[in-house]
Amino acid sequence: MDRPNTAVVLVIEDDAQIRRFLRATLVDNGYHYLEASTAQDGLRQVGMQHPDLVILDLGLPDMDGLEVTRRLRDWTSTPIIVLSARNRERDKVDALDAGADDYLTKPFGTAELLARMRVAMRHAIQIAQGTDDPVFTTGGLRVDLAHRQVFVDETEIHLTPIEYKLLLVLVQHAGKVVTRKHLLHDVWGPSYEDEMHYLRVYVGQLRRKLEAEPMRPRYLITEPGVGYRLKVE
Ligand code: CA
Repeated sequence: MDRPNTAVVLVIEDDAQIRRFLRATLVDNGYHYLEASTAQDGLRQVGMQHPDLVILDLGLPDMDGLEVTRRLRDWTSTPIIVLSARNRERDKVDALDAGADDYLTKPFGTAELLARMRVAMRHAIQIAQGTDDPVFTTGGLRVDLAHRQVFVDETEIHLTPIEYKLLLVLVQHAGKVVTRKHLLHDVWGPSYEDEMHYLRVYVGQLRRKLEAEPMRPRYLITEPGVGYRLKVE
């Protein structure tokens, strides 16, 4: 049995239908639900209620969701999951680069929503408590961060320093999407943020070393137009 989950979730969304869906889903799953239909009300409630997670629509009537993300990140590290309309890749990428933790594209399903919420909140708790495990495992992939060793099904895999660094950034954000710009910045440095082909080459190399079927990756998932996600199993 899971222990009762009383995390407080604030939904900032102007679409009443989506709010109703989120309210029903979150209350059913034991979350304490709060809502705001404007950015101003949302920002005010974050300050007053200190939610454990914010679900933020990017298309709000009174302020761009991107600006809301920036304003929140000025003072709080509360996880933010943004909701975006289909085909607005640029918005999602900008929101992630502004400090959002993850995104969902409308329409989204309950299972996907709850999974993203769990990842975002678990990550926040790990950062707050400093309890990051020195060994990361997902499926048959194991990364020993203390010894910089990588294993697939107990066979050690030799990675180049760049390949390892790329995998490390994905491990540090396991389960969450990491934008291409973020990866390029952290692996190669700030002047390489536009070198998208570096990423394609190195992700391809990593997949050939880590994946049983590199063309149908199990661990290193492409988020089209946005970045990559290391899948947590
Ligand atoms: Ca909207």
